[in-house]
Amino acid sequence: MSGFRRAGQMVLALLALAILVAGREPAARGEGPTPAAASPDSCQRAKFRVVVDVGHTIDVPGAISARGIPEYAFNLQLATQIKQDLVAAGFDETVLLITATAPWRGLVERAARANAMHANLFIAIHHDSVPDNLLQAWQYAGQEEHYNDDYPGYAIFISNDNGDRAGSLMFGGFLGTELQARGLHYTPHYTLALMGHRRRELVDAKAGVYRYDQLIVLRETRMAAVLLEAGSIVNRQEELQLATPERRSLTSAAIVAAVEDFCAARAKPVTAKTAHSAH
Ligand SMILES: [Zn+2]
Repeated sequence: MSGFRRAGQMVLALLALAILVAGREPAARGEGPTPAAASPDSCQRAKFRVVVDVGHTIDVPGAISARGIPEYAFNLQLATQIKQDLVAAGFDETVLLITATAPWRGLVERAARANAMHANLFIAIHHDSVPDNLLQAWQYAGQEEHYNDDYPGYAIFISNDNGDRAGSLMFGGFLGTELQARGLHYTPHYTLALMGHRRRELVDAKAGVYRYDQLIVLRETRMAAVLLEAGSIVNRQEELQLATPERRSLTSAAIVAAVEDFCAARAKPVTAKTAHSAH
């Protein structure tokens, strides 16, 4: 009950942000990449199940943006759009996964549900922050809030302990390529020493795919799985962009294109094998 009320407040706060940025220049918009070379019927979209996982929960909502909005509100809005766009593209079996159970039980539950549904692909939707020691204080709307303007951009994570490590790496590569084709860039800061124990190995330096073996939703899922940090909500400029329908559409279109690429690659096992060249 209070959860619904809070969800309403979060959406209102996001709307307020969207109004704030109305009139500013739209997010970078690229022409879509050329469609995958695969023939249209090689991928059976109606049978290909994608689970779109809304990161965090209404009660444990993740990071707090530079303007005080919980990450969960951003995740829910973007994931909802992705689900709609995948269904519109013919991926009728797409499931929007919303979990109320707090971590880590809730994290295990997400993976278990995706496994039970026999999903072909699992995509966790998140928005990024930085470690607390890299945050600075500022005043926004009469409140003290926290920001870091240094590391805008998306980041993609995979786990080598995932049930389909090769598929995860392949999809991560497709996703990064499609995001960049639309003018978006990944953040390289996860490789920096200042990230401490949150430092990660960059396994695909072109697409922006990092290795994060311990992530439960990636480790416990049997199908290809990635976690997307769609951008930094503690970055004061990028937060405004992430709150716009234009930026959500851009990210969502990249995901749909990457899912099409992946589904097509998986429909042709021989090609899929040669595409995996990590080792
Ligand atoms: Zn998150």
